[in-house]
Amino acid sequence: MRLETTKVITFTFGFLECVIAAPSSGLAERADITKRLAPSFGQWNTNIDNLKHKAQAAFYDAIILARTVHTKPNTEKWDKIFPKYFQLSEKVGVEKIFATISGAKKKMPNNPYNGLDDGVYDGSDLFKKVTVVNSPVLPERECEAPNYEDRMLAWLQNMDEDRAVIRFCPRGLKYPTQDETKCSDLDNEVSGKMSTIGGIMLHEMTHFAVIGKANIGVDIIHYDDPGYGPLNTRTFNSPNRVPYSNADQFRWFAQEYYWTITCNKDFADPVKNDDYLKCKDGGSNCVAM
Ligand SMILES: [Zn+2]
Repeated sequence: MRLETTKVITFTFGFLECVIAAPSSGLAERADITKRLAPSFGQWNTNIDNLKHKAQAAFYDAIILARTVHTKPNTEKWDKIFPKYFQLSEKVGVEKIFATISGAKKKMPNNPYNGLDDGVYDGSDLFKKVTVVNSPVLPERECEAPNYEDRMLAWLQNMDEDRAVIRFCPRGLKYPTQDETKCSDLDNEVSGKMSTIGGIMLHEMTHFAVIGKANIGVDIIHYDDPGYGPLNTRTFNSPNRVPYSNADQFRWFAQEYYWTITCNKDFADPVKNDDYLKCKDGGSNCVAM
C-alpha cells in the first residue's frame, strides 16, 4: 500500500489552503460536534458519486462511537465487552486512543492524550489535518484495483508527520449511518448489521499515526481477512498476538458497545463474519479497509 508520496503531496497542496474548516451542511443535528474540527472535503468528484454528505456523516458518527466508548455510560457492560476484543494489558492504550478520537482533552498535534478530560467530546483537533477524497490516488491498493474491487471500503494514508489522506470507496459509502440503523434492524447476536459508515471511519482513524502510534508507540495495522469482521476480530484476540495490532478490533469493540448502550440490549456472540454488505461470491470475507 505504498503511495507515491510526492504525487499526493502535490495533489493535496493543490486545494488544501482554501478548504480547511469548510462548513458542512445538513449536520445541524450534530451541532455538538464542532464544525471547525471537520476534515477537508475540498475535491469531492461528483462524477464518481454525490455522497460527500455520507463521508461527512461518517466522520461525526466515528466521533460519537469514540465518545460512547470513552465516556462509558455503563461500565459493567464496557468491562464485559472489552476483553472480547482486547487483552487487559492493552486497556490503557486503547482508552487513550478512544479518548484522543473523541477529543476528550484539547491538545496540540503530536501530543498524546494526557489523561485529563475537559468534559468536551467533540472530536480531535487532529482531524483538521485529514483530507477526505473520493477519487483514485493509490495505484496498487486502490478501490478499483482488481483484487479489491468488491472489497475495499476505504483507506488512510499517512502523509508526513501529522497529516493523512482518507479515501472512501463506493462500497464503503453504501454503509448506513448510525441514525439510519434502528435497533430493530439488528440481530440478537453481534453481526454485520451493526456495521456503520462511522465504524469504517473509526477504523481508518486508528491507522492515523498521530492517533494510533502517538498514543501506544506502534502503528495500528490490519491483517486482511483474519482480522476483519465481527467473528474474525473475536478469534484474532489471542494473548499471543502483537498488542494493539489490528485496527478492526477498535471498530468492532466500539460498534458492539455503542449498540449495546443505544438499544439497551446484550448481544450474543457472533455466529458469522459477514459484514454489512454481502460478498458477491457468497464468502464471508469481503471487506478491506
Ligand atoms: Zn485498515
